[in-house]
Amino acid sequence: MAKKKFKAESKRVLDIMINSIYTHKEIFLRELISNASDAIDKIYYKALTDENLNFNKSNYYIKIDTDKDNRKLIVSDTGIGMTKEELEENLGVIAQSGSFNFKNLNKVKDGYDIIGQFGVGFYSSFMVADKVEVHTRALGEEEGYKWVSEGADGYSIKSFDKENVGTDIILTIKENTEDDNYDKYLNTNELQQIVKKYSDFIRYPIKMEVDKTKLKEGTEDEYESYTEIETVNSMVPIWKKNKLNLKDEDYENFYSEKHFGFDKPLSHLHVSIDGVIRYNAVLFIPENIPFDYYSKEYEKGLELYSNGVLIMNRCPDLLPDYFSFIKGVVDSEDLTLNLSREVLQKDRQLQFIAKNLRTKIKKELETMMKHDREKYEKFYSSFGRQLKFGIYDEFGRDKDFLKDLLMFYSSKEEKMVSLDEYTSRMPEDQNYIFYAAGESKEMLKKLPQTESITDKGYEVLYFTEDVDEFAIKMLGEYKEKEFKSVSSSDIGIDESDSAKDNEADDDVKKEIFEYMTKALSGKISKVKSSKRLKNHPVCLSNEGDVSIEMEKVLKNMPNNQNIKANKVLEININHKVYKSLKNAYQNDKDKLDLYTNLLYNQALLIEGLPLEDPVEFSNNISKIMD
Ligand code: ADP
Repeated sequence: MAKKKFKAESKRVLDIMINSIYTHKEIFLRELISNASDAIDKIYYKALTDENLNFNKSNYYIKIDTDKDNRKLIVSDTGIGMTKEELEENLGVIAQSGSFNFKNLNKVKDGYDIIGQFGVGFYSSFMVADKVEVHTRALGEEEGYKWVSEGADGYSIKSFDKENVGTDIILTIKENTEDDNYDKYLNTNELQQIVKKYSDFIRYPIKMEVDKTKLKEGTEDEYESYTEIETVNSMVPIWKKNKLNLKDEDYENFYSEKHFGFDKPLSHLHVSIDGVIRYNAVLFIPENIPFDYYSKEYEKGLELYSNGVLIMNRCPDLLPDYFSFIKGVVDSEDLTLNLSREVLQKDRQLQFIAKNLRTKIKKELETMMKHDREKYEKFYSSFGRQLKFGIYDEFGRDKDFLKDLLMFYSSKEEKMVSLDEYTSRMPEDQNYIFYAAGESKEMLKKLPQTESITDKGYEVLYFTEDVDEFAIKMLGEYKEKEFKSVSSSDIGIDESDSAKDNEADDDVKKEIFEYMTKALSGKISKVKSSKRLKNHPVCLSNEGDVSIEMEKVLKNMPNNQNIKANKVLEININHKVYKSLKNAYQNDKDKLDLYTNLLYNQALLIEGLPLEDPVEFSNNISKIMD
């Protein structure tokens, strides 16, 4: 039979896998064992709903055998098996699941990323084997099939007599090389250790023929070796173990085995509640953002077990959206087994667990923020954005719950600070929590509008994410202090005594500004003298709820409503440009038009807003060079 080729993309993944520079090649065994365990789970499920099927636990197990002479390692299971179509579908194309995006392949540095991110478990066998055979017979089928592949050039499928339902994966282990010892995958002691390390909690027995010694009969000190089939895993899931007996490494292994992420988790929570509703949970806070996290494809949820039996792969009702980055498992004895999605949503026990977990996650994050700021900053740079969405979502329903987890960059401290830290060191005469919104902190540092505020010794928070200002508007205040944008037309600082010095000038000023307002009609609501500018000649501020930064964000939204900020052009009357304006007003109106246009465009540039007519602006600059 002709060899079938792997799909083009699959071939690339296989190439990377085969030539993987990944050092922990041993994890291929973990991958095969979890597939075997899933296959047994599938029969278990079936038995729950199919009266004709009787699940007798003792018939279900995973077995590992070796044949050193022929360099074979065999992983067998008595699970559900695969039909011919399933073989083709599951093993002919790598990771068809929606999460596998081949465009991201270019970003992948080595095989480890692939395994971690996409879970192409089965194919990791090619890291240690030259040839992989799959013998399988599906439940309810008379016939079995044999799938054979020697790597990237393709695979074949043939009919095959298989006595029992289930799957055997037969690897022909590679010869040792200078860099790699492959023989260890044929050594039962080594294999036993790998199973213990990665697959100890698998719910079904993993059987292996292990080497043993015993006292020789009739002697007192002579020993003989023999082999015996033993179950090498403890079968107790990690969440049911006592956390005092577990090390960080155990949790990290569990995290990788479950494909929760390629990174090491930043932190874990192990919860065992023995109250009215009993449950165990192991939750993780990842360090890195999953590649699809901020996309529609990402699905939140925790694995849900009922007394050790998986009932849902990803139960979304256990996590609010703002904690959707949490990975982990929940197991409760008090849940019924055959739950449908609709029933689950209303399940009171589940709601209780969800509420409980939400509090625990927040506590964990708060502790991290207090006691390990560096870690929290790492977390926050990945998922802070999600917390801010949480403040904003559902019209601010959970804003009070989340507000203490927020951090922003401080002009004064030059690092991220919490709102509590900000408000606790506010001078007595400061009435507002000041913030500046813009593209980057470098830009905000130079913003003319902040001058008078920072001069007073007040701290300004820099908002550089599009969601920031929206979230803060929803929050409104923190510890009874309102938030105030440095660009709002009234910043509540009455600092400019110098404005009074020019009172005599008031009438002319009024006329000039009226003239300018008219010239800029439709673009701004008014021109006024600035109370906040010290060294800069001009800036924009806004009146009302929509800020200039919000206008920019809204403009970039798909169905934007063309919502505009109500802009005010502020002129520093102590700056020498004001003298020039006055001069022009009295002597040369064309010049005043020119200056007005220039100042307005300068203010747009400072705000990072696009110029309406860059060519005109450029020509106008040339004009003043004449
Ligand atoms: P994943 O397990 O992440 O889906 P794999 O490449 O490891 O990816 O496996 C692909 C699919 O092949 C599995 O989802 C499963 O349907 C099937 N499969 C793999 N191993 C077995 C097995 N031992 N028994 C039954 N089906 C299996």
